[in-house]
Amino acid sequence: MSETSPDSFYITTPIYYVNGTPHVGTAYTMVVADTLARWNRLWGRDTFFLTGTDEHGLKVSQVAQDNNMTPKQWVDLMSTRFIDAWKDLGISYDRFIRTTEPEHYRTVQSFLSKIYENGFIYKDLYTGLYCVACEAYYNESELVQGVNCPVHLRPVTEMVEENYFFRLSAFQDPLKKWYEDFPEAVTPSTRRNEALGFILQGLEDISITRTSIDWGVPVPWDNEHVFYVWYDALINYLTAIGYDSDQGVFDKYWPHVHHLLGKDILRFHCVWWPAMCMAAGIDPPNKLIVHGWLLVGGEKISKSSGITVDPLEIANEYGIDAMRYYLLKETHLGSDGDFSIEGMVSTYNSDIANNLGNLLQRCLALVVSKLDGVTPACPLQPPEVFKFDQRVDQTIRFWESFQPTGALETLMELLRGANIYLEQKEPWKSSENEYVGNVIGAVLELLRVVSLLLLPAMPESSKKVLSRLGVDTTVNLREELTFGRYKGGAVIERSAPLFPRLEVE
Ligand SMILES: [Zn+2]
Repeated sequence: MSETSPDSFYITTPIYYVNGTPHVGTAYTMVVADTLARWNRLWGRDTFFLTGTDEHGLKVSQVAQDNNMTPKQWVDLMSTRFIDAWKDLGISYDRFIRTTEPEHYRTVQSFLSKIYENGFIYKDLYTGLYCVACEAYYNESELVQGVNCPVHLRPVTEMVEENYFFRLSAFQDPLKKWYEDFPEAVTPSTRRNEALGFILQGLEDISITRTSIDWGVPVPWDNEHVFYVWYDALINYLTAIGYDSDQGVFDKYWPHVHHLLGKDILRFHCVWWPAMCMAAGIDPPNKLIVHGWLLVGGEKISKSSGITVDPLEIANEYGIDAMRYYLLKETHLGSDGDFSIEGMVSTYNSDIANNLGNLLQRCLALVVSKLDGVTPACPLQPPEVFKFDQRVDQTIRFWESFQPTGALETLMELLRGANIYLEQKEPWKSSENEYVGNVIGAVLELLRVVSLLLLPAMPESSKKVLSRLGVDTTVNLREELTFGRYKGGAVIERSAPLFPRLEVE
C-alpha cells in the first residue's frame, strides 16, 4: 500500500449533521482538507475532495416536526447553511454530497445488500441503552455515573427492538491483521493504538437498522426497517465515487482514499468502517487521518456546551487566510489545539505581517529606489544562509505526509534566512546596480518559491505576492521549485504593505 497514489488523491471530511452549525471546529477540518486537496492539485494529482451533510435520523425528524416541516423540507433548508459557509470560506471541494440523494440511497442499499448476501447481517432482538441526541447505544461501562450519556451528560433510555445486526465480531482477527499489515493506515500512531485497543478488547455485533423511525434509507430486503444513520452516513464515501455504478471512477479513487476525521468518531471510522468494507468484499480505506479537537479556552466547541465560534465572523474581521494560517500552523494535525483571537493575531503578525510582509515590502522599496522600479532576475545559485534546497525538500515532505505545521514552520525558516541575508548584505548602502540586483534578486526568488509552497495554506495571500512579482500561478509546482528560475522584469510602484499588522478588536 502506498501512502498516496502517485496520480490521484481522494480526500474526504466527515459529513456534517444538518442539525449542527458550521463553527470554527468544523471549519478547522474543512481548512485542513482544503489545504491538502490544494497541495495535491498543485502537485499535479487528479484530486477529488468530498464533503457534505448527514441528513437522516430520529433527531432530524423530531426537529423538523417541531418546526412544522417535513424532514425533507428541513434538511433542504439546513444543508444550505453548510454549502453557504464553505462557499464564503473559499473551500475548494469537488462534490457536496447529501445523504438524502437518490444516488446515495442506491449505493447504501447495494453495499449493505452485498454484506447481507455475504452472510454478515442477521436479525435479532436488541436491548440497549440509547442516547437520542447521539443516536447511539452505549455500554453501561461507558456511561457517566452509570446513567448519563458521556457526550451529553443526560440520562440514556433503555430501548428494545428487533434489529438487523452486523457481524462485527467476525472481523476481530481480520481487523487485527489489517492493523499489523498496514501500520500507517491510521495516523497519528496514538490514534492507531487507540483503535487497535478497541479491537483487542473484543468486538460485539452491532445493530444497524431501526423499525422505530422511518427517516432513513429503507432496508431493501425488509421494508419494516431503515438503516441506522451511522451506517448510511459512512457509505457516502463510496456513493461519491461511483460504487456499483462507475467502475472506472471507483477504481481510480478506491482504496486510495484519505479520510480526515475528528478523534470523537474514531471508532466508527477506524473499526466499523474497515470491517464493513471487508464484509462487502472491497479493500478498507488506505488512510485515516485523525485530528484532535480544537478547543476554545480549554473547552470543546459544540452546540450543547454553548461554545461556538463563528468562522465567518472571524474571516470577515481578520481575513480567511489569517484564520487558515493560524489553524494550520498552531494545531499539529493529530493533536488538540486551542483557538483564540489573540493567538491568531499574534501568529499572523509575527509570521505573515513581519517575517513575510516586511521582507517583501523592503525588497520592493529597494526595487523602486535603486533599480528603476523593475525587479531584477535572480542569481543562479541560492545564498548559503537560505539552506534553500534542504528546506524546500523538507517542506515538500511535510506537505506530502500531511503535516501542515511542519511545512509552514519550514517556510518561516526560509524567510528568516532571507531576512538575515538582507541584513548581512545591506543593499540599501550600495550604489552598484549589479550588487543590489543580485541581492534583491536572490530574495525575490526565495519569495517566489515560498509563496508557491504557501499556496495550499493561504491561496489568496500567496497569489497576491506572486502577482506582484509577475509570476504565473497556474503552474505545475513540481517544475517550479528549483532556484534560479525568476526572470524579473515586473514593474513595481510604491504601494502600501500587502500584509499590514492585525489588531485585536
Ligand atoms: Zn449523547
